[in-house]
This record gives sequence, C-alpha cells and structure tokens, in this order.
Amino acid sequence: MPDARQIAVSGSERAELEMGTIGPNALEGSRDAAAEFLLTCERMLRRCFLPPLPEHDLAASLLSQAADALLERNLLQAADLIRRSDLRFLEDYRYKVAGPLDPAIHRIAKFPVYARSSQTMGRRMPTMAVTREVFARDGYRCRFCGSKVIVKEARKVFINALPTVVRWAGTNRGCHFGLAVLSASIDHVVPFQRGGRSEDLANLVTACNPCQFGRGHCLLDEVELEDPTKYAPVIDDWDGLTRLRAFRLHRDQSSDAEVSCR
Ligand SMILES: [Zn+2]
Repeated sequence: MPDARQIAVSGSERAELEMGTIGPNALEGSRDAAAEFLLTCERMLRRCFLPPLPEHDLAASLLSQAADALLERNLLQAADLIRRSDLRFLEDYRYKVAGPLDPAIHRIAKFPVYARSSQTMGRRMPTMAVTREVFARDGYRCRFCGSKVIVKEARKVFINALPTVVRWAGTNRGCHFGLAVLSASIDHVVPFQRGGRSEDLANLVTACNPCQFGRGHCLLDEVELEDPTKYAPVIDDWDGLTRLRAFRLHRDQSSDAEVSCR
C-alpha cells in the first residue's frame, strides 16, 4: 500500500512546494486527509461477515425441489432431496459467523452487552403480518449476504410430513443444516436493545440465521457492516417456499415411517 504522506504531496502540491509558493506546514491538512482516507480503505465496510458458499444456493434449490415433490405427494422424492440438502458445510459457515466472536470476521474485540431496559420501547418482534410483508418486500432473501431464505411455515410442513427425515433437535448441530442456515428471520437494522423499533418497517430487514445472530446487539458500523437498506432487494420468482403454507397431508398419506426405512 502506498504511503499516505507520499500521496498527499503528489502532483501540483509537490510543484508548489518545490517552487516555495507554499510551506511544508500547509500540506499537513491534506496529509491528514490522505492518511484518514487510507485508514478508511483498510477498514472497508462489507455487506456481510462472510460471503455465502455455493452450498447456500444448492440447499435452496434442493429444498425448492423437495417442496414441489411434496406438493405432488411424492414423499420418497421429497425425502431424498431433503437429505441431500443437509449440507455440513453450511453448519461450518454458521459457526464461523454466529459462533464465538472472531475479530478477523466480526472486526470487534468484544460484543457489547445490553440488558433489557425501559429505554427499549414497544414489542420485541413485529407482528406476523409485518413479518410477512418484510419477507415479501425483500424477495425472501437475506438483505446482508443475499442468500435465499425459507419461511418457518414451510420448514414446519417439511418436519410434519417427514419427521424422521428432517432433523430438528434442540441444538444447532441437531438441526437440518440447510433448513437451519436458510431460516428466514427479521433483523433490526438498529437493534431493539439499542433503541430500534419493531413497528418501523424501515428498521426491519430479512436475514438468514447466521447474519441474524452474528451481529449480536452491535450497530452496523461497530462491526463494519454496510447498511443493507442502501441496496435494493432482489425480487424474482423465489418465494421462500411460501407455496407450502397451505399444504396439508391426509392421515393416510403420512408414510414417513415407510419413507425413512427405504
Ligand atoms: Zn445472510
């Protein structure tokens, strides 16, 4: 990286300095500005803690196909696709982002702790109606890393239809990695504990699980993240698997035990 002081005295300033029309002290301001600029470059803001893996898209694609198989009542195919989307790399990614603090990733030495207090106002989480509105507005994608996310109702359909295939225990590693990491959630741009409101749609964005939990109660600039609302959401035919919301299996179609034995 070039030295800031060399940059500050380049070009016309160097010529003026050599001609004696300006003194060395006059350059201090521009030197400081250059040094500050270079410091900013070194601490570039980023969209998310870690770029998503190819496995993010792969899991979303496989689970989308599983949803279609389920809608066609093809439980065997759905089970196969769900198993194939249980990708361990996604858990490794989640652990790096939302696990123990790593200054190289989170760019902070220690997460601030904020107790619940009277300064936090209103409800902690938005209503279901607002949640659905935010997910739809954001194209069912994480506004930080851009990953496609899957709504909770779809995950419940998978679990209810194929309970012995979809791992969903009480721990991170006990849960299906694809469904856990791509789980849709609402994140507060200004955290609730820091005064951010849940009633203000401008303060709410869709987030995947790692991006949701990786930031703790930090403000964006405290962990050198860009404001996701500066960028327009990506809207296409990805529906977050909301098409499963109305899906119901009849009792005689629930052949999960049979599926799981094959
Ligand atoms: Zn994300």
